[in-house]
Amino acid sequence: MNIVLLGAPGAGKGTQAAKLVSQEGLCHISTGDILRSAVKNETELGKKAKSYMDAGDLVPDELIIDLMRERIQEPDTSKGVILDGFPRTTTQAVALDTMLSELGRPLDAALLIDVDPEVIVGRLTSRRMCKECGAIGTAADGDACKACGGEMYQRDDDNETTVRNRLDVYEKLTSPLIDYYRGCDLLISIDGDRDPDVVFADVKKSLGL
Ligand code: AMP
Repeated sequence: MNIVLLGAPGAGKGTQAAKLVSQEGLCHISTGDILRSAVKNETELGKKAKSYMDAGDLVPDELIIDLMRERIQEPDTSKGVILDGFPRTTTQAVALDTMLSELGRPLDAALLIDVDPEVIVGRLTSRRMCKECGAIGTAADGDACKACGGEMYQRDDDNETTVRNRLDVYEKLTSPLIDYYRGCDLLISIDGDRDPDVVFADVKKSLGL
């Protein structure tokens, strides 16, 4: 099964993807995670991406499409993928269609986790992430990761100014993908403003899992 996760930053895509990975064994590809690791390791990609990410802007399409073209051909993707944070523009969506059709692996669904933007500002500014395992938590959870005990930190781009820009960018460049996938008859919309386990029950039901 190949799934695109759609939704504003902070809608809960990463949380739902983690649940799908642990329960269904799908391969999770998060372009944001790949880019953060590239920035941390100061690779060529990381150096090119950093300033866009710090500002909450999108990294140029060519860089992301090249990155995904390679990643999607790796062996761990053969049973299916959950794409989290890609595509984010119509150009990327068209490129993904080409990549998947060349591999003979059609997309099964575009799952929109739908959350009101004002709810998202509060969610993101209090979001924390584990330095070790990438688990997602909140400021109220304290400094240690509930999953592995690692140190929780606030992402550089989870401050209010950058969050508001990321939401603007989502509205302008990414939300048109909702209509794109509706037109392909692949769109499934889920109310994401609920407890993550309740959202996940809906996700599974809508995917027939
Ligand atoms: P995320 O973790 O998905 O919120 O992504 C963090 C940041 O990485 C974004 O604000 C962008 O700067 C960059 N990014 C991640 N995925 C993409 C993408 N598909 N296209 C362009 N930029 C991306």
